[in-house]
Amino acid sequence: MKVSFPYMGTTVVYKKLLELMGHEVIMPPKPSQKTINLGVKYSPEFACFPLKVIMGSYLEALDMGAEVIITSGGDGPCRAGFYEQVHRRILEEEGYNAEFLVFNSMFKDFQQFKKNVFKLKGNNSWLKLVNTLKLVYSMTKKLDKLEKRVQITRAYEVKRGDTTKVWEEIQMLFDKAKNQQEINCAYQRGNELIDKIKRVEVPEEKKIRIGIVGEIYVVMEASINMKMEELLGNLGAEVERSQYLSQWIEYNTLPDFMNFTHEVSILKKGEPYIPISIGGHAKQTLGHIVDYSERGFDGVIHLMPFGCLPELVSQSIIPKITEELGIPVLTLSIDEQTGTANSLTRVEAFMDLIRGKRGKKIS
Ligand code: SF4
Repeated sequence: MKVSFPYMGTTVVYKKLLELMGHEVIMPPKPSQKTINLGVKYSPEFACFPLKVIMGSYLEALDMGAEVIITSGGDGPCRAGFYEQVHRRILEEEGYNAEFLVFNSMFKDFQQFKKNVFKLKGNNSWLKLVNTLKLVYSMTKKLDKLEKRVQITRAYEVKRGDTTKVWEEIQMLFDKAKNQQEINCAYQRGNELIDKIKRVEVPEEKKIRIGIVGEIYVVMEASINMKMEELLGNLGAEVERSQYLSQWIEYNTLPDFMNFTHEVSILKKGEPYIPISIGGHAKQTLGHIVDYSERGFDGVIHLMPFGCLPELVSQSIIPKITEELGIPVLTLSIDEQTGTANSLTRVEAFMDLIRGKRGKKIS
């Protein structure tokens, strides 16, 4: 079957999984202004921004010949759980006839999960499916490790853009890998490429570390968050995101009683501020801010899609955390109207504030 999926972060991983299972993959184009315009045109005006961008991505993929769309679902009091129904209805009204495979946590609806897995498996053996999943997980883990190195190295690169080029090259290497041995080689080569990047020496006490938190789609997809990681890296900050694909997989595939993943500890840290589930990643956002503060990060950028209720709630609690823990947080609301120049000025001013704070500490 001709399958596609929403473009988010290191898409090479989703592509690899589907290709290895023998499906024809229609790669959705990286979200661009055209994608956003398309999504905005066909989505309800009050919908949250990720719904609109994903709508645009689906329209582009379907025009390229996709028949089936694979996506994740959502539960709790947040729109994510309705994305599939909303997207499907809009697409039907526009004359598209796409089949949706929505993967929710298997612990929420096992029957539906089983049905989707059968569809994904097709005529392949169960052994092939298990081996492919293991392979793709290993690839995700390795890519995340390399990406974390990239996010640190970028802050000290001598020639601006070198690290980003290396990261693109690494993703291409993984895209070509077809078995565990090739993935290991790509990982080794990736580390070598990062080691070769020329960087300036910065004394430990002058290094600045910034965390990026917020709703998963805007945190992970650089093309709609003004390339925040690159922007901060170019301003001399080491960056760490609150969300990485391997962590998401680990948290969502383990049952509660044996789930001791990083995400669980983050949720505990967010619990005192939001004791109930309000959907999205609001609790994680606050938990991560606490975590970054405990780990000595200098500041946090909070990315919030316009129209996102969970992140609006977390935004209203952030001043309390800043007051309690002393960690500066800059919230940026992202939507189709977001002006890059305006946000850039705010991020630069935020970095100046952090440098000033750091300078005072050192003196
Ligand atoms: S978390 Fe926010 S942006 Fe994401 S689906 Fe829910 S309401 Fe929309």
